[in-house]
Amino acid sequence: MAQERVVFMNGEIIPDSQATISIHDRGFVSGDAVFDTTRTFGGKIFKLREHIDRFYESMKYMRHEPGMTKEEMIAATFKVVDANLPLISDDEDFWVTQRVTRGVAQPDGSYKPTIIIECVDLPFKERAKYYRDGMPVVVPSIRRTPPEAMSPRAKVHNYINLILATQEVKAQNPDGWPILLDTNGNLAEGPGSNIFLVKDGVVITPREQMVLAGISRSTAIELAQELNIDTREADIDLFDAYTADEAFVTSTSFCICPVASVNGSIIGEGGVPGPVTDRLMKAYSGLVGIDIAGQYLARLEA
Ligand code: PLP
Repeated sequence: MAQERVVFMNGEIIPDSQATISIHDRGFVSGDAVFDTTRTFGGKIFKLREHIDRFYESMKYMRHEPGMTKEEMIAATFKVVDANLPLISDDEDFWVTQRVTRGVAQPDGSYKPTIIIECVDLPFKERAKYYRDGMPVVVPSIRRTPPEAMSPRAKVHNYINLILATQEVKAQNPDGWPILLDTNGNLAEGPGSNIFLVKDGVVITPREQMVLAGISRSTAIELAQELNIDTREADIDLFDAYTADEAFVTSTSFCICPVASVNGSIIGEGGVPGPVTDRLMKAYSGLVGIDIAGQYLARLEA
């Protein structure tokens, strides 16, 4: 019998198919939940401490109380990953996600949170084309939720803003990768991804106040600094994007992925990755011990 993956749910490790939540759970009813996602590289979990720190900050912002310490969350995450790793081959890896929902209302009016830790496959095959061709970024008309409405710095379950933007982009170009503008007209971020431009050798990304501070975003900035490449956080708009020498996206799954065009306007000289992006991708691969583009490209269909 094929072994089934397991998840952590409310203190127990159980088979994935038995992990169910109540229809009254606020995470389901209202998207009232917080999550964080890291990934493995060759089976090793990447920057778990940083992801858990961000997770607990998102919970603090949302006034969620998980009833578990960070150390307990980390230990439970290792347990889930260790139990599931034997079920995948050596060249595969997992997305690893912790979720805490507000939970279900109790008779006394308090809420009992639902806590889940799960592993799912990374979408190597579906996204491999982006490493071969570069991403065609498309900017939708929908703007990223501004901090005065709900801070984009918290990683919450309510993705409707990003989902609507994705639908708008995919209706125009099924391969298009959405990057939303903020309400001031500057580049913000996309679903699960931060955006970077390279201009005259300087690596530039939107200010942290307007976006989720991606762990891959800070990893890319750190690597650039180690390589003596200047980095800057700034308001950047579509003029900056169209006239950039290079552009790339960072995320837990992509790490660093080159951008080929923005709204059909070819970035730089064309051809990806550009030289600065290439150096950063190689440095990222060195850091995690895996050829990040190679892991995707190996799944390309002939
Ligand atoms: N922006 C948003 C809205 C996200 O949801 C994510 C991650 O899922 C990111 C950026 C990238 O963050 P990270 O590099 O930590 O995956």
